[in-house]
Amino acid sequence: MAYIITEPCIGTKDKSCVDVCPVDCIHGGDEDQQLFIDPEVCIDCGACVSACPVEAIYADSDVPEKWQNYIKINADYYVKQ
Ligand code: SF4
Ligand code: SF4
Repeated sequence: MAYIITEPCIGTKDKSCVDVCPVDCIHGGDEDQQLFIDPEVCIDCGACVSACPVEAIYADSDVPEKWQNYIKINADYYVKQ
């Protein structure tokens, strides 16, 4: 399992989630529209969910249907690194 960052992050991207993640698995550069969670490193603690001001973060099993594609978007970010 892993947690996933979805569409509401775009345009917000305030990095509140980064500050609370105990394993530092949330990344994204200035050129990216949103941040991404590394599914290989995330320990599913859930701390980032309540830190996000726009409810962009979901457990992968709870991602709303309209944002299912973000599961791959988050994972693909790390494949490209
Ligand atoms: S669930 Fe925990 S480990 Fe995973 S990204 Fe959020 S804060 Fe980090
Ligand atoms: S806290 Fe939410 S809006 Fe802010 S960077 Fe993280 S996922 Fe994006």
